[in-house]
Amino acid sequence: GYSPQLTESAPSTRQLFDPYRVKRDFPILQQQVHGKPLVWLDNAATTQKPQAVIDRLAHFYEYENSNIHRAAHALAARSTDAYEAAREKARRFLRAPSSKDIIFVRGATEGINLVAQAWGRRNVREGDEIVVSWLEHHANIVPWQQLCAEKGARLRVAPVDDRGELILEEYEKLLNPSTRIVAMTQVSNALGTVTPVREITAMAHRHGARVLIDGAQSVPHKAVDVQEIDCDFFVFSGHKVFGPTGIGVVYGKDEVLKDMPPWQGGGNMIADVTFEKTIFQGPPERFEAGTGNIADAVGLGAALDYVESIGMEAIARYEHDLLLYATEKMLTVPGLTFIGTAPEKASVLSFVLQGHEPLDVGKALDREGIAVRAGHHCAQPILRRFGLEATVRPSLAFYNTCADVDALVSALRRLQNGRS
Ligand code: PLP
Repeated sequence: GYSPQLTESAPSTRQLFDPYRVKRDFPILQQQVHGKPLVWLDNAATTQKPQAVIDRLAHFYEYENSNIHRAAHALAARSTDAYEAAREKARRFLRAPSSKDIIFVRGATEGINLVAQAWGRRNVREGDEIVVSWLEHHANIVPWQQLCAEKGARLRVAPVDDRGELILEEYEKLLNPSTRIVAMTQVSNALGTVTPVREITAMAHRHGARVLIDGAQSVPHKAVDVQEIDCDFFVFSGHKVFGPTGIGVVYGKDEVLKDMPPWQGGGNMIADVTFEKTIFQGPPERFEAGTGNIADAVGLGAALDYVESIGMEAIARYEHDLLLYATEKMLTVPGLTFIGTAPEKASVLSFVLQGHEPLDVGKALDREGIAVRAGHHCAQPILRRFGLEATVRPSLAFYNTCADVDALVSALRRLQNGRS
């Protein structure tokens, strides 16, 4: 039978984490939906916000709101300080060497587009190759496809095995002197597969290629150290890590960002403008044209403080146990098949249920107050790799409990017994 890998950890540290206590920090999780207590299992799509983030946003608009031009007046100094403090929190969260390596964007999608266009247009030429994997979200496929079409470059795709695990040897065979960049997810949003990003990066570097890691699904679940991975770029979305929508982060290595042309032009990103010539700022301002999402950057900083106050190690350990619990329980549902059974997984429990369309399962669960995603999860290639157009996808966060999993399993059993 299928069961994900167990890792060792001391029982004493496990007792420190109480999911019922942290769940109380999330006001939205206290409500009823369709007359049932809300069970939020759509965390891979977006996560809920703790009171600390909601309060931080309100505080910003009540006391600090201004555009960020520090010298102008008191509120400008406050908002600039709050925005730059959030940048420093993002730096610390990713263990990046300098806050100048942290660019605020709208989210992972915008981050990947920024790199594909600003870095890609300068560094990718006809005949060059870009490597992605079968696991990628559309956000880490389409921008590279567009770049390839523009440049006459070739998109190459590293395969996965029948469990949804990246086949590292096949990936390595794709690398050659024409490879310019490897763009790879750290955790698959459709299957939950964790990829070995350090090895992926080291292999790419041996062939002189740059590496972008899509961390949209990894940072909510495990501690990340971009210097240890040694990737050239790392992107994530605030809303998937308990922060606001409309804000995300691109980390770039200092030496790469310094040589990278701007993406969009406008205010904030310039040092001097005449009609003849514009001199650009250095990173990160060079990549932040126009008025950014100041308040939500500050909210993201509060979200990162919040998860770090719990501790990413404690979160990862708890979620690992919960994933094992959920996997075992769900396997007792008649006719349930998991899609994605890699030994190392995070958060995602994609499945199909014999005799029921995924969308119908999603609707039946919703009637019970249980929120999951049913569909292609913006990752059509990997579902088609398994001969599917859709799965049902519950996905966990640290505020989920065994009781949430039990509610899901009971609802699925009732559906199989024709009692839903
Ligand atoms: N990459 C992965 C792996 C994702 O799961 C997602 C969102 O689902 C994205 C990128 C895109 O994130 P966003 O929609 O926040 O830009």
